[in-house]
Amino acid sequence: MPEFPEMEAWRRQLDDPVRAFPIQEAGPAHIATLKTYDPPLSALEGRRFEGVERRAKRLLLPTDDGELVLLVHLMTAGRLRYLRAGEAGPKTPAFRIAFEGGTRLVLTEAGAKKRAGVWLLTPDQVEEELGHLGPEAYRIGAKRLGEIVAVDSRRLHSLLRDQRALAGIGRAWANEILHRAQLSPYASTKDVTPEQIARLAGAIDAELGRGLELRELGKKDKETYRVHKKLGEPCYVCGTPIAQVDFEQHTIFYCPKCQTAGRTLKDRRLSRLLR
Ligand SMILES: [Zn+2]
Repeated sequence: MPEFPEMEAWRRQLDDPVRAFPIQEAGPAHIATLKTYDPPLSALEGRRFEGVERRAKRLLLPTDDGELVLLVHLMTAGRLRYLRAGEAGPKTPAFRIAFEGGTRLVLTEAGAKKRAGVWLLTPDQVEEELGHLGPEAYRIGAKRLGEIVAVDSRRLHSLLRDQRALAGIGRAWANEILHRAQLSPYASTKDVTPEQIARLAGAIDAELGRGLELRELGKKDKETYRVHKKLGEPCYVCGTPIAQVDFEQHTIFYCPKCQTAGRTLKDRRLSRLLR
């Protein structure tokens, strides 16, 4: 699933184009993709977007009159593309906005399952919809991060991925961040020291910033991640082969030397079954 670096790179890329022309036609939308019906999509027609904002892993396109907001959540496989006038696009996109002058914004989703979503909301409804989200992870700072960690009791990998605690990080960047911070993915929030929290806050900014820079250059996963999905490849710091462990429906990747003092993390689900 795209996380902060990917979403923010797309936001920056789309911010100018979407405001260039008024909206001519909103839709069609796949029935599973459009999550709201009131106000109707046609309410967008004739209006103009103010640009693109981002909150956690969602993109928000407010209209410049302040009345409506188009909210887009790409989930795992959704992709947004801005097409110039006359540029060939997908035949049946999951969602489409046509602008005056012939440019289009299209949402496509690979695979049969339609999980990406589009909501047309009023600003009040947006607040309600996003009210559960925690503060943005990028530039959170050690002080605020320390407050979040202090009231929590679970493993760091789980905390980093929880959008209610901290918004914008998923499993891929949690792997990268914890490696950079030299912390075990299994470390408990109860045991982390102030020094480790400072290191974690620094690693969040360093890794998300690095990812954003690479995504803005159009780099693919392989050239962006250094730990995530790198099983058996040498750690970029110490050369130890990267290890993996399954945890909470996710596969965690980590360096056994840099992060866990040589220990191999156990698959907790498996050990529970064997007990
Ligand atoms: Zn290492």
